[in-house]
Amino acid sequence: MKNIKGKVVIVTGASSGIGESTAIALARQGAKVVLAARRTERIQELANCIIVAGGEAVYLKTDVTKRSDLVELISFGKSKFGRVDVLVNNAGIAHLSRLDALEVEDWEEMIDINLKGVLFGIAAVMPVFKAQGSGHIINIISTAGIQIVPLMAVYAGTKNAVRTITEAMRQESAGQYRVTGISPGFVKTELANHMKDSAIQAAIRDRSTKIAISPEDIASAVVYAVSQPGHVDVGDIVIRPTIQD
Ligand code: NDP
Repeated sequence: MKNIKGKVVIVTGASSGIGESTAIALARQGAKVVLAARRTERIQELANCIIVAGGEAVYLKTDVTKRSDLVELISFGKSKFGRVDVLVNNAGIAHLSRLDALEVEDWEEMIDINLKGVLFGIAAVMPVFKAQGSGHIINIISTAGIQIVPLMAVYAGTKNAVRTITEAMRQESAGQYRVTGISPGFVKTELANHMKDSAIQAAIRDRSTKIAISPEDIASAVVYAVSQPGHVDVGDIVIRPTIQD
């Protein structure tokens, strides 16, 4: 696809769900994708599938809670493909619980992955964008940052922080790079697998089975944002299942 072919796109959290679908969709349109996640075997397999299908892909084990991993990731992408056009900050985790359950370790994990992981990605890629005079950051946020509901205080807090950062970056970008925030509603992925409270996990799975859209639906939005000509910056996209309230 015009405006995607040849672009170098780094996707965090590419080992499953939205990140995996996004990498596949962009590679199909001719992007050179750099796959990042902690589960190396998954991103290795995905890279192989993309290559077998005629695309270009490399992978690097990355933990977004480690700033040095993100510095290494961006430099790896640049050394493999010569430049970095897009960073999709997608890696994320959701632990849902009442605030008074005081699951402090879960709070820390969400802040480290969902918020600090995004900031570390921005910090690592920004010097490359400045040197190139162009670039595109796409942050996968959530409708949880828009509609405040019980059990999601900290998760939604991290996502709302990313929403704020995304808009501030857009205003500060001064035409040097593009900034897009994509906020999915319920999407059928492995996100609920990591939830510790089995009752909450079952409730989310049940709701997700009934109403969720697919990761490919979100990948289409990423493709749309990346495919726009350089003078067009897609700021905010919110995508919910039609029947989600
Ligand atoms: P998945 O659980 O399928 O994917 C999460 C991805 O994040 C995995 O690839 C995982 O890879 C990666 N990840 C988690 N922790 C780290 C880490 N420390 N370092 C690097 N990668 C990490 O869920 P989704 O696809 O649903 O989630 C993707 C994004 O979409 C998240 O930011 C989530 O908040 C957001 N989102 C999801 C919604 C949904 O309903 N599913 C709704 C709204 C937003 P690995 O474990 O291999 O490191």
